Amino acid sequence: MKDVEHTSVLIVGGGLVGLSMSLFLSDLGISNTLVERRGGTSTHPRARGVNVRTMEILRALGFEQRIRATESASALVENQGIIAARSLVGDQIGELNGQYLAQTDQDGWSGISTTTWALCDQDELEPLLVRRARALGARICFNTELTSARSTGGVGLDATIHDRDSDHVRTVRADYMIAADGARSPIRQRLEIPMEGPGTLGHFRNIYFHADLSKALGDRRFIMCYLMQEDFRGALLPIDNHRRWLLHVPFAPDSETARPRFDQEECARLVRKATGLDDLEVEIRSVLPWESASRTATQWRKGPIFLVGDAAHQMPPSGAFGSNTGIQDAHNLAWKLAAVLRGEAGAGLLDTYEEERRPVSLFTAEQAVLRSKDRGRTTGKDGVESQIVNDADVILGYRYRSSAIIPDSSPDDGAPWTSAAEPTGLPGTRAAHLDSPDEDVPSPLDAFGREFTLVVGSGGRAWERAASTITSHGERLRVLRPASDREVAAQFRARYGVKDDGAVLVRPDGFVGWRAPTLTDSPETDLVDALARITHRTVDPGTSVDD
Ligand SMILES: Cc1cc2nc3c(=O)[nH]c(=O)nc-3n(C[C@H](O)[C@H](O)[C@H](O)COP(=O)(O)OP(=O)(O)OC[C@H]3O[C@@H](n4cnc5c(N)ncnc54)[C@H](O)[C@@H]3O)c2cc1C
Repeated sequence: MKDVEHTSVLIVGGGLVGLSMSLFLSDLGISNTLVERRGGTSTHPRARGVNVRTMEILRALGFEQRIRATESASALVENQGIIAARSLVGDQIGELNGQYLAQTDQDGWSGISTTTWALCDQDELEPLLVRRARALGARICFNTELTSARSTGGVGLDATIHDRDSDHVRTVRADYMIAADGARSPIRQRLEIPMEGPGTLGHFRNIYFHADLSKALGDRRFIMCYLMQEDFRGALLPIDNHRRWLLHVPFAPDSETARPRFDQEECARLVRKATGLDDLEVEIRSVLPWESASRTATQWRKGPIFLVGDAAHQMPPSGAFGSNTGIQDAHNLAWKLAAVLRGEAGAGLLDTYEEERRPVSLFTAEQAVLRSKDRGRTTGKDGVESQIVNDADVILGYRYRSSAIIPDSSPDDGAPWTSAAEPTGLPGTRAAHLDSPDEDVPSPLDAFGREFTLVVGSGGRAWERAASTITSHGERLRVLRPASDREVAAQFRARYGVKDDGAVLVRPDGFVGWRAPTLTDSPETDLVDALARITHRTVDPGTSVDD
């Protein structure tokens, strides 16, 4: 066929999630092409809370300093809390609901993670992702649209791509396609995949403006200020604490006649009303209407096509879970695609993406809705009461159950989350952070990302030997032995749930896939077997290395 190019993975949509997918795949050496309809990265600050799990993932890729150096992240580092006021002048600004403050408590994460959350606006984060993914070989095409895709009849699909600059149409043949095409996801609609969940919760316009609020604010600092007046409700968010701001204003979009205006004059009026500064000089930079909603796709994969990010799930912004959940979807899927494309895993591994991520997304969306309702508990159709789970447990404590996780004999209470503060190394949970007194021995968290890791204790020599034999047979497996310090050894036993001679097999995404509480009779066979089960490979009895 004329004019056909090949890529292993075609990513449709260059928002935070599509760009993260491109970065993760590129980092794993997988060729990928990303097409984005818009002419460039987002100019409107939208998602901003980069949560601790996302920061752990990006830190392991060497991204942390770049994020913390952005204008929005560095300006907001001192800001604490969500507060409420009538306006910025004349009245006392008070703390709002204590439950929200946990998220902004930077100290609360020390001891359970290597990092803390960051506030980095989408318009600053996206260009960082583009630069890094391109440097690693990704092909990222703006002003370029997917117009159709059809199965090749074998593995993969042919996608028709329209370059809107040149009006050139080309065919890209891909083994897999990622629908990172947002909440309205044309791909999901074409695949006729229904959404489920509570649906629309509210409509807002997000006004990005420049104005000097320094004098009115004095030394008051917040990450969000709810403005509550008799005839006005809104939320003010700082970007640089000085000139760049966002104002969220709810509106009712229903009737044609009552349709709200979005013009500059009206938006400037709303900013003055919100702040209480009648003469404020305001420059409206952009206005983005958005819908707060909770919906989850009933199916996340159809053949070679996978839904990620808002295409798979929409959740209200309370808790800042939306793009974080999407980025973590991409992280879960990237290593699986890489393993299958490299011939290191069976195709069945790809089914575990939906098995693992959909329940996490349903749980997280429920938590976002609870936070948005500001009530803390709700009763579902089945009469079961749900409650707000603390941020750390939602963000770091979620648990996977799938055929890429080998459960052990520990009882399973069926809960979607576990305690982030007291991890126990259960298969399916995030492998825990361990303090290190030695700068040269990093926390295990910084070591995960590209291959399987066997974490062993001080009595783990036999496991190390087994791993070394297996790697000499071509397996990608590294061994990590935490610092030998007594305290760290005790942490390892508690947080990984094994004895000093036990071992924990951590998947490339940093989740525990399997563990042996103590040394087994045949460590090599057990390790080979565990790797084969997790990666959906058939174990060839002839490859046993214990014989
Ligand atoms: C006001 C607000 C505040 C938020 N705050 C936070 C927060 O603090 N933290 C957080 O985690 N989340 C937050 N969210 C949620 C977050 O913005 C979204 O979950 C996230 O940005 C979704 O990213 P995405 O990449 O999946 O989709 P999108 O950002 O919607 O990107 C999809 C892209 O696909 C492109 N596209 C669609 N069809 C095609 C096609 N056929 N060809 C080419 N391109 C196509 C579109 O142009 C679009 O750029 C917030 C959301 C809102 C509205």
